[in-house]
Amino acid sequence: MRKRILVTGGAGFIGSHLCEKLLEEGHEVICVDNFYTGNKENIVHLMRDPYFEVLRHDITFPLYVEVDEIYNLACPASPKFYQFDPVQTTKTSVHGSINMLGLAKRLKVKILQASTSEIYGDPNSHPQDETYWGNVNPIGPRACYDEGKRCAETLFFDYHRQHGLKIKVVRIFNTYGPRMLPDDGRVVSNFIVQALQDNDITIYGDGSQTRSFCYIDDLVDGMIKMMNSRDDFVGPVNLGNPNEISILGLAKMIVELTGSNSKVVHQELPKDDPKRRQPDISLARRELGWEPKVELRKGLFKTIEYFRNLLRKVQP
Ligand code: NAD
Ligand code: UDP
Repeated sequence: MRKRILVTGGAGFIGSHLCEKLLEEGHEVICVDNFYTGNKENIVHLMRDPYFEVLRHDITFPLYVEVDEIYNLACPASPKFYQFDPVQTTKTSVHGSINMLGLAKRLKVKILQASTSEIYGDPNSHPQDETYWGNVNPIGPRACYDEGKRCAETLFFDYHRQHGLKIKVVRIFNTYGPRMLPDDGRVVSNFIVQALQDNDITIYGDGSQTRSFCYIDDLVDGMIKMMNSRDDFVGPVNLGNPNEISILGLAKMIVELTGSNSKVVHQELPKDDPKRRQPDISLARRELGWEPKVELRKGLFKTIEYFRNLLRKVQP
């Protein structure tokens, strides 16, 4: 059955892939975005589709539309951008969630929140499963994002308990792929762009900190599976690839895959940078029958191809 689905943050990296997949599945999509970190280029290829609609709107203000389902993704995800205007970042997570939850309540529709592994902070439990409550510095430079997202989870669960709203919460771990911004500041796009231009690869700290990287197609598949799962499974559920790698290891892999002459340089480690991160995805495997399929080298290869073409367009 064709549904009308609202995707907030739909012009962003993950949101644009999600809009594309939902349209492919035969749904009507309303993409809401204030274009802070989103980009028209990400969705221009969808604009020819009569079932795709774009609204320039900031979700910290109320929104009146009629839809059957909501994916709430609006929020800058890169530290560089979420720390640029930290008050707006918290507002987007908190006021934005209240507005979207209010909309879902009025319409009596299901709403999914794009939460994050950042709610675990700099974890002292490894790997992280959903029962872990986290280790977040509430007053540090990452707090506008981490605490905003934590408060959003609180709001989702209170709307569920207090108003019987149908909610879904996914905790997304580091995701990468085509349509990340070249100046996005996150590690995969930074290293690939640096490698393709034979510039120095900037490792923050000694590079021993770890992350676990999930390819975009796998993540979108997991998000849709979660939205369509039975109503009494509300999450939170981790979505990510458990394949953990050090940042130094990632840099070496990207240099090798691009055939670059770049050398690695070390810069200061940002404050509160998590030391280790790896999702335990047992719950997603059990409840959603989901696990990532794209191996890191293969996903990086596709992402490198994307940036190679993009840079060619910018600097022919
Ligand atoms: P992104 O920055 O590419 O996309 C976010 C989108 O939200 C952008 O299009 C931006 O313009 C829009 N936006 C920001 N504030 C808004 C507002 N107030 N009103 C309307 N639109 C607004 O980031 P992404 O990587 O695509 O992340 C999407 C979501 O997934 C975010 O909520 C993020 O917290 C979450 N997430 C992402 C990752 C990841 O690795 N990419 C990891 C964990 C969680
Ligand atoms: N990082 C790095 N060099 C860069 C960008 C990031 O060494 O040019 C490191 C960063 O310090 C962190 C990891 O890579 O340890 C992942 O950073 P990112 O901003 O991508 O995601 P997050 O820290 O939010 O997981």
